[in-house]
Amino acid sequence: MSQQPNPRELVIPPPRADRPPLHANLLNHMQQANTTLAPLFPYLHPGAIVPTGALFIGGPDTDYGQFYHHNSVDEIIIAFVANGATLQTGQLYNGGRVHGVNGFLKDQTAPGSFVLFSVTQRQLDEGAQPEAISILCTSCRKQLFKGEFDGASPPDATELDHPFMSAAALPDVLRAFNEDPELRTCPDCGHVNEPFPVHAWGWDNYATQSRVLAGAKQLLLEAAPPT
Ligand SMILES: [Zn+2]
Repeated sequence: MSQQPNPRELVIPPPRADRPPLHANLLNHMQQANTTLAPLFPYLHPGAIVPTGALFIGGPDTDYGQFYHHNSVDEIIIAFVANGATLQTGQLYNGGRVHGVNGFLKDQTAPGSFVLFSVTQRQLDEGAQPEAISILCTSCRKQLFKGEFDGASPPDATELDHPFMSAAALPDVLRAFNEDPELRTCPDCGHVNEPFPVHAWGWDNYATQSRVLAGAKQLLLEAAPPT
């Protein structure tokens, strides 16, 4: 006798032909990643589940600084391997819509310390997906700066045409703060804060390489338009 399908059974449709299932090894991926937060897969369309890899490495001259991330979607963190970090190997948690971000190391100047984890978010199905980065005075913790950007994905977005904004947007967002000593001077305590160390996070590398390679794709398309 043939089995009758259960009408209440939830059915996941097969993937679209242009979005084949992919897998990634987090260690291999982050060995080559140019930023501390790198998408593992190119799918960034509305509704996409976007797993990213994160890697921080301690050392004598290391300074990742600290900021607050304001997100409109949940971020699920899984610590894959940690040594001398504030996360434990195997730890899983929801990052919260507003959360402090630093190098996740107990002592970022300690040689041999590192942490490798994944951060996964789901892009909204529609509408704006506001995000922001804010920076506090390192002396008294007054908020000095808040830069906003939209983390939403255009239809059918892939990483080459639409890089992951949580990394790509930040060099521009932070430029005003970094270039203006007045913005970095605390109105409460007078402390002149250092520029935020964008390069330590690789966001500038990711933004530059994203821009150049998106342009490279256009050059190829112009040279040999799809038939
Ligand atoms: Zn202050």
